[in-house]
Amino acid sequence: MHVTPDHPRYVSLSLRERLIQAHERGIVSIAGLIAHGRGEAFDYLLGEYTHGFAIDAIEAMAANIVLARHPVFVVNGNVAGLVAEDVVALSREAPLHLEVNLFTPSAGRTRTIVELIEGLGGVAHTPEEDTATLPGVSSSRSSISVFGLGSADFVVAPLQDGDMVHALKKAGMKTATIDLNPLSRSAHDADITVVDNITRAVPLIRDAVRFLKKRSRKELEVISRFDKEGALHEAHRSMTERYR
Ligand code: ATP
Repeated sequence: MHVTPDHPRYVSLSLRERLIQAHERGIVSIAGLIAHGRGEAFDYLLGEYTHGFAIDAIEAMAANIVLARHPVFVVNGNVAGLVAEDVVALSREAPLHLEVNLFTPSAGRTRTIVELIEGLGGVAHTPEEDTATLPGVSSSRSSISVFGLGSADFVVAPLQDGDMVHALKKAGMKTATIDLNPLSRSAHDADITVVDNITRAVPLIRDAVRFLKKRSRKELEVISRFDKEGALHEAHRSMTERYR
């Protein structure tokens, strides 16, 4: 489908097209296309822009990435299909480990995503390199890499079904998510929740990391604290206000 930039839904339609093409390349699953629809609906309610509560969360997330000993960003099919380039740029800026973890994995899809990341100049862990188990996660997502999630002290797990963040927290890791749905289990379970579209959020996280790398540890510790309940409340409020 060809959409011109003057179309009123240009950005949204282009993202759909990007995901459809990623599906055709074996990166995004059919279920991933459906999950994107849920995100779109919440983005519509948000007015499709990055709110102040998301900026606060992005800064806290970036400070935690800089402070962490072994930060890891989880890449699933939709993350790869939507923002592979931005995620690789962020991983190089921080530095930050990437780990491919799929809800409906196949050796082929994992390899395709790893090759996509490598083609963009990044490196990705997969459970195949040396497998550990993350208890409490349904499906084969419980297989993780010893060198990636298995060693993490701070994990960014965006666009996830709720049990992943819950399990990471139970395993003692500090967690952050990016999720347009402020009602989701992930949004509530994560220590830091960025309620924003991942396509807008990741470039901003990279900018924040670049800026915060120059700050002292003491300053970072202040910025890394985050009022998640307050941010979720603000996200609900801004969505319901648009409905009035
Ligand atoms: P939970 O169990 O936590 O309620 P879920 O079952 O809603 O999660 P999925 O259906 O796997 O989880 O969807 C993943 C989440 O990602 C959804 O909350 C959806 O709103 C969100 N999402 C989808 N696309 C985007 C996007 N582009 N940016 C940010 N969030 C998104």
